[in-house]
Amino acid sequence: MSEYYQLPGREVLKKLNGSEEPLTSQQVREHQEKYGRNELAEGKKETILHIFLGQYKDFLVMILIAAAIVSGLLRDVESAVVILVVITINAVLGTLQTVKAEQSLDSLKKLSAPEAKVMRDGNLVQIPSAEVTVGDIVYLDAGDYIPADGRILECASLKTDESALTGESLGVEKSTEPVKGEVSLGDRTNMVYSGCFATYGRASFAVTAVGMETEVGKIAGLLNQTSQKQTPLQISLDQFGKKLSILILIFCGILFGIQVMRGGDAGDAFLFAVALAVAAIPEALSSIVTIVLSFGTQKMAKEHAIIRKLQAVEGLGSVSVICSDKTGTLTQNRMTVEDYYVNGIRIPAEGIDLENPQESMLLLSSILCNDASNAEGAEIGDPTEIALINLGDRFGLYASGVREKYPRFGENPFDSDRKLMSTQHVMEDRPTMLVKGAVDVLLERMTHIQTDEGVHPLTETDREKIRNQNQEFSKEGLRVLGFAYKEILVGHEITLEDEYHLTFIGMIAMMDPPREESAEAVKQCKQAGIRPIMITGDHKVTAAAIAKRIGILKDDSEACEGSEMDSMSDQELRDFVEDISVYARVTPEHKIRIVKAWQDKGYIVSMTGDGVNDAPALKQADIGVAMGITGSEVSKDAASMVLTDDNFATIVKAVENGRNVYRNIKNSIQFLLSGNFGAILAVLYASVAALPVPFAPVHLLFINLLTDSLPAIALGLEPHTKDVMDEKPRPVGESILTKAFLQKIGIEGLSIAVTTMAAFYIGNHFGNAVLASTMAFGTLCTARLVHGFNCKADMPVVLSKKLWNNKYLLGAFALGLCLITAVLMIPACSGVFQVQTLTGTRLLIVYGLAALNLPIIQIIKMVRVKMKK
Ligand code: ATP
Repeated sequence: MSEYYQLPGREVLKKLNGSEEPLTSQQVREHQEKYGRNELAEGKKETILHIFLGQYKDFLVMILIAAAIVSGLLRDVESAVVILVVITINAVLGTLQTVKAEQSLDSLKKLSAPEAKVMRDGNLVQIPSAEVTVGDIVYLDAGDYIPADGRILECASLKTDESALTGESLGVEKSTEPVKGEVSLGDRTNMVYSGCFATYGRASFAVTAVGMETEVGKIAGLLNQTSQKQTPLQISLDQFGKKLSILILIFCGILFGIQVMRGGDAGDAFLFAVALAVAAIPEALSSIVTIVLSFGTQKMAKEHAIIRKLQAVEGLGSVSVICSDKTGTLTQNRMTVEDYYVNGIRIPAEGIDLENPQESMLLLSSILCNDASNAEGAEIGDPTEIALINLGDRFGLYASGVREKYPRFGENPFDSDRKLMSTQHVMEDRPTMLVKGAVDVLLERMTHIQTDEGVHPLTETDREKIRNQNQEFSKEGLRVLGFAYKEILVGHEITLEDEYHLTFIGMIAMMDPPREESAEAVKQCKQAGIRPIMITGDHKVTAAAIAKRIGILKDDSEACEGSEMDSMSDQELRDFVEDISVYARVTPEHKIRIVKAWQDKGYIVSMTGDGVNDAPALKQADIGVAMGITGSEVSKDAASMVLTDDNFATIVKAVENGRNVYRNIKNSIQFLLSGNFGAILAVLYASVAALPVPFAPVHLLFINLLTDSLPAIALGLEPHTKDVMDEKPRPVGESILTKAFLQKIGIEGLSIAVTTMAAFYIGNHFGNAVLASTMAFGTLCTARLVHGFNCKADMPVVLSKKLWNNKYLLGAFALGLCLITAVLMIPACSGVFQVQTLTGTRLLIVYGLAALNLPIIQIIKMVRVKMKK
């Protein structure tokens, strides 16, 4: 049997579908059933049981299990059971958190799944690529993701990036010609492969294999779930956690020695040392970060920003420069044609007279030299081109009809470096090449002009007139396209070399108003210490006019053209970028240089991009942002964030969310570390003052594993606030554990320790060592719950509504309080938890002392805020 690449394209289609026609809906259903969904099987997911068992692999949990065994052997069965129960509850909590975080990351992945353009029921439609099936005809444009393997049917200069499959990073040129003999993948030039990208040109292909039957499916076998890499914050916290753990273990070792030397029971001393280590080591730091980040991404997805790399959430908080495309991101991308320029005069679009040959030629050219479609209201393609065919509709010249009358024989696809596009037709028996593109580029390639008086050489006066008109349109913020043509030889297939010696037909000016939100978002950026910058392929004057309207630029001197950078060294560019807010006529290479220049100056740069060639700049930027609606799949693949509404304001909102997430993580860490520090200080004090140990091991485990983790997570989910945008961006590389932060932890830990030891003394005074320990335990536990409210913000919150606005924290507090009260009040608990059941008054003393931490720390915060001012 011949391979698909050895057969002519149409024959392949016949073999797959039984005819050369696209699949009928009935066939689609049958094929989908037969070949399955177009998805790669994912590696086996960890089952919930696995995740649960995984919780026991933790080093600290293992120590605890060892401790339980030791206590069991020492006949302290009760302690052993308690430790095991507490570990199990902790493992259940850990499992729930992990599952939830994974679910939210999974749903994000689904949101950014690629789409494909296929012919269904005679119409070109966009569908999720998982629904593509064998026999479908898929249409590819530059930048598209190739959703399945297939045999090319039509091809216009298609090049693909097959590096994912063959490692070959150069674009591979494709054609429709059958290939003779058996050849390797890389030489099957009429085939395209799933997982690769179209980088240039256009094509359609018949799908020959989907899902696991594709070449990438065969290689991948079972694709392992790509695990999310650790974020810089997680790495730095892990390192910090390790160092701290070693210190704490040494400290606990010494404590164990002291107790034994003082004649204490070695078994008890061991258990206590273990419990203290467990209580003091902040093992949850890194997992809290994961949970808070993954919840943050959920919120951002709802607000139209899909995070593709978890690091981006953190990075967003320190973004100090946002470079944004103009068209569609700062503007609405809802373009409408406003004016024509033909025969040396400007005419409003509604005044076009199709009887006039020049006006009619301009309209026809704009429909023919155009890849967009709008059949039955389904607009597919570049909004600039959609605007042109929509104009045709207004005059009864429908794209489908015009294109049928003057079919396309060849083309040079648009690319944003060249800023031109051409197509080849036969018009009124004359083989013609139509060219459209940026007027300044066209001006250099035109030699003639066509008017009602006929075709004549383009004089300097004509050029001047065209230039002036282009300038006038641009000043009004209009986007201008120029149109030209050239007669070519019969049978000649056009190449880029043909785009010279052109004859000017006219210009079309379109309005693309700024988005309503843009101006406000730019203002917010500036207030947040972020520099907004417009980078566009459009004309400088158009760009400056729009930039002025939304506040990015004050003076025209802040605008430049990309070509001005060409002669600059990197050092010169670094000095230059500071003064420039608008870059026009920019190529993708310029974008990379701009990002690098800012980065060299120490800024964290976010850069948007939509085109095929934008991928390198998106990768270079700290936060690459792709457009979900108009962006090419290549750019989405390279980005760390995708905007589902293509809106600049969404980036600013994402920065706000990023800052909030970071602040919440910080608060949550502050809560954990200060609480742990409080416990250590209390034990340290007792040991220095030669008092009995204030807590039984089970107390520390109870706090650390049960009542502590919920408020920590709740703090991570604290409602977002706008005030984060009043601050400057977080300095690059600033550790979360700054001196000021550690100071706060020290002071707050001290406050908790003092109230705890006060309870201990009171208990000791009115009762015995057990009562003292019970009251110290109760106070420490409750104080940490209360302290959750202190960690909500750097500002005092006690007299504001903010105290009550986090329902998770309120829930965690209420649950924790119920648990500790139950342990302290229910007589049946006294044995297991080694407490003495408290009377009402004593319970109130415990509550009161614990609650004191609220006013004490709030007052300290007030003083700190005052001093700062
Ligand atoms: P931005 O970079 O802000 O998205 P842009 O869409 O103008 O702006 P490009 O797509 O790189 O950037 O286009 C650059 C120039 O090429 C445009 O200003 C226009 O003159 C010309 N151009 C844009 N689209 C087409 C097209 N489909 N066919 C021909 N020329 C085009």
